[in-house]
Amino acid sequence: TQRTFVIIKPDAVRRGLVGEVLSRYEAKGLTLVALEQRTIDGAMADQHYAEHVERDFYPPLRTFITSGPLVALVLEGDESIEVVRALNGATDGRKAAPGTIRGDLSLSNRENLVHGSDSPESAAREIALWFPEL
Ligand code: ATP
Repeated sequence: TQRTFVIIKPDAVRRGLVGEVLSRYEAKGLTLVALEQRTIDGAMADQHYAEHVERDFYPPLRTFITSGPLVALVLEGDESIEVVRALNGATDGRKAAPGTIRGDLSLSNRENLVHGSDSPESAAREIALWFPEL
């Protein structure tokens, strides 16, 4: 089994889609290990997105991710990192396949509802950053 880190981003909270998104992970069979609603500041955003801080798309992403409450999760299950990324769909909601969270519910490449760790190393780093008690 494997743990992964997920963010249900502020657009999903604003749109009232937390339950919809969470139910897709639960219906798939993933187990909820931790869940917290919180609003992060720019310093936390910079730590979470350490690999993106120099990118052109980062300043608006930073504004977006700090714009309101988000829901941070740790999920557990067999190959959960890959499973969550498949459920999330492609980064750009306009191109994500129907049936995925982004493909069904997002029309944006920035406000794309969810984040999922992309590797075991990222999952370990992100879980330690967001849920140091785990
Ligand atoms: P995530 O890491 O959030 O699961 P991802 O791995 O599909 O998504 P990354 O390439 O890691 O995407 O980008 C991180 C986030 O930055 C994206 O989820 C999206 O919110 C934003 N982003 C990425 N590329 C762009 C872009 N070209 N324009 C605007 N925002 C972008």
